[in-house]
Amino acid sequence: MKKAAVIIAVISAAVAAALLIYDGVFMKTANVGFFAMNTYVSAELKGADSQKCAQKISDITARLDTEVLSRTSENSEIHSVNQNGSGVLGSELGGWIAELLQVCKKSGGAFDFTLGGVSDLWSFGSNPRVPDGQALADALSHSGYEKLTLSGNNLTLSDRAAVIDLGAAGKGIALDKIKEAVEKSRVSHAVVSVGGSVLLYGDKTFTVGIRDPEGGAGRYIAKLSVEQSCVSTSGSYEQSFEKDGRKYHHILDPETGYPVDNGLVSVTVISESGLLSDALSTACYVLGIERGSKLAAEYGCRAVFITQDKKIYLSGVSRDVIEITDNSYTFAEQ
Ligand code: AMP
Ligand code: MG
Repeated sequence: MKKAAVIIAVISAAVAAALLIYDGVFMKTANVGFFAMNTYVSAELKGADSQKCAQKISDITARLDTEVLSRTSENSEIHSVNQNGSGVLGSELGGWIAELLQVCKKSGGAFDFTLGGVSDLWSFGSNPRVPDGQALADALSHSGYEKLTLSGNNLTLSDRAAVIDLGAAGKGIALDKIKEAVEKSRVSHAVVSVGGSVLLYGDKTFTVGIRDPEGGAGRYIAKLSVEQSCVSTSGSYEQSFEKDGRKYHHILDPETGYPVDNGLVSVTVISESGLLSDALSTACYVLGIERGSKLAAEYGCRAVFITQDKKIYLSGVSRDVIEITDNSYTFAEQ
C-alpha cells in the first residue's frame, strides 16, 4: 500500500510538473499597455510567442506612426507629401491610400482624409477652440479628396495647402499590420486595441463592449459577441469640448467644416479589415444611419449606430449577438 501511495504521489508530481512546463513553454501569455499613435495601445496575447509578439506590436505601432502615417513626424511619408505636394509612396502606403480614396468616393465625400487644415483650426488634441468663420472657410477651400491624384504609387496634391490627415483610418491600418505579425507568430488568441479600434484574433467568440457615450473609459452600454474581426468605434465623446453650452467634437462634416450634428453619438463597425472598420466607422458617423448602413453593407460590413436619444440601430447585426447592459438604451424599431 505504501509503495502504491508513493507511486501515485510521484505520478501526480510528474503530471503537475508537466502541466507547469506545458503552461510555461506552450501557453505563455502577455498583457501589455503603452502609448503610441497618439493613443493608448493594449494587447492581451495567448500562445508560445506572446512576449515576442507583444514587443513586435510595440515596434509596429511606433514605426508605422513615425515613418509612414503621422502628419507631424518629420520622418514620415505623409509628412513629406504634405510638405512637398507630392511623393512616391511605399507600396503599402500606396495601397492604403487607394483603398481610402475609394471610401471617399463611395461615401460621396463624407469621408475625406484631406481635412487636416480644418482639424488644425479646431485643435481638438491640444488647445480646442471654435475657429474663426473666415479661417474655417479658407481651410475648407483647400481640402477635398478630389485634390489628390494617385497614379501607381505617385501621390500628388493639386492644392499645395491641402493637408492629408489619416487620423480616421491609421489605427485600423495598424491593426492590419499587427494581425500580419500575429499570424506569423505562435500566438493563438489576441485582443489588441489601438484607441477605439480593436483586433479580435483567434478561433473563438469574443465579447466586446460598446462604450457608454456619456461615461468614462471602461463603461459600456452593450456587449457584442463577435468572431475573429476588427471592431472600430467612432464617437463624439472621443475628442470634444464645450463652449457657451454647445458641445463640439472631432468628427467633421466636410461640407461645413463643423462637427457633424446628426443625432448620433457613436458608430461601431465590424469588418475583417482594420482599415475598413476604422475608415467606415468615421464615414458612417458622418453619413448618418440610413446612408451609413448602405455604405457598410456595400463593403460587406456590419454596423451599430447609437443616437443621442439612446436608441440602438443595427445594420447587418442580429439582435442575438448584442446584449444591452444599460437599460436606458433600447433597440430602435427598424
Ligand atoms: P475616428 O475617431 O476614427 O472617427 O477619426 C476621427 C479623426 O479623423 C479626427 O480626429 C480627424 O483627424 C479625422 N476626421 C475628422 N472628420 C473626418 C472626415 N469627415 N473624414 C475623414 N477624417 C476625418
Ligand atoms: Mg475611424
